[in-house]
Amino acid sequence: MVSFKELGLSNTKKMFKIALERKFAVPGYNINNLEQLQAIIIGCGESESPVIIQISQGARNYANQTMLQYLGEGGVEMAKELGFNFPIALHLDHGNSFELCKSCIDSGFSSVMFDGSHLPYEDNIKVTQQVVEYAHERDVSVEAELGVLAGIEEDVKSDVHIYTEPGQVEDFVSRTGCDSLAIAIGTSHGAYKFKVAREEDIPELRFDILQEVRTRLGKFPIVLHGSSSVLKKYVDIINKYGGNLEKAFGIPEAQLKKATEFGVSKINIDTDGRLVVTAMVRKILTENPKEFDPRKYLGPARDELIKMIKRKNKEVLGSAGQAKYI
Ligand SMILES: [Zn+2]
Repeated sequence: MVSFKELGLSNTKKMFKIALERKFAVPGYNINNLEQLQAIIIGCGESESPVIIQISQGARNYANQTMLQYLGEGGVEMAKELGFNFPIALHLDHGNSFELCKSCIDSGFSSVMFDGSHLPYEDNIKVTQQVVEYAHERDVSVEAELGVLAGIEEDVKSDVHIYTEPGQVEDFVSRTGCDSLAIAIGTSHGAYKFKVAREEDIPELRFDILQEVRTRLGKFPIVLHGSSSVLKKYVDIINKYGGNLEKAFGIPEAQLKKATEFGVSKINIDTDGRLVVTAMVRKILTENPKEFDPRKYLGPARDELIKMIKRKNKEVLGSAGQAKYI
């Protein structure tokens, strides 16, 4: 058993407090491997942004849970060594059971999500309560979810989109004691968020629901999952170099920026990072068919990811330069 405090990690309490005051969103970036983690540390360090490093169940299966725990710890040490000073939370993304949340808390995570959004309402409350009780005794933060996002994220699948019912949020938050709430207002997981033919046809997020939730919860951190913009620049590179991502559209960045004005304090970005890496690897291998050193294509992919993270922090989330207030 190890506490996140011994590892130099932060929980999300102060990050969200300041994010609400200063109207920005803390980025939730997912990791599965070394290069993604390095890019997050350098990207957020250089832009002086707080960060929530997210590990999903799929990532645990892919990279090994113990390896990821040490990667997270290594990230904190790397940040210190590079002279960066910004808060880092290590977060379980989409935990599906109390046992999994507990195991992450016991191994040094500073924040966990229990996703009971697929459960009947009372069952979601019951398990979330249980996770909150265990987590809060150890000063660990808990994210919960109400409403179901369409799309696929690792093991979490849904074909239907069920928007969060604003009438339930006060009851849910007060009974569970969760520290932040993921809601469904039209974002979704994956690279195909909308069944539209053109970018101009992408519908607006349900800002009416967001506004209503905000009014009911007051200054309470709201989380948006599935909030990649499916950046056209990288989709085009992928398609140019042998890929086939047709009609892949995400959430326009202007809408995400607008959401930060409405109390959204955490925005999850996973797909955009995947697209950056895939685009760079495809391009470099196509242009250099004799290349066989992974450092020669993963290195530039990592550099491009750093650029994307810095730009997102600065232009979309508003988290750049905020670390000094936390
Ligand atoms: Zn998610």
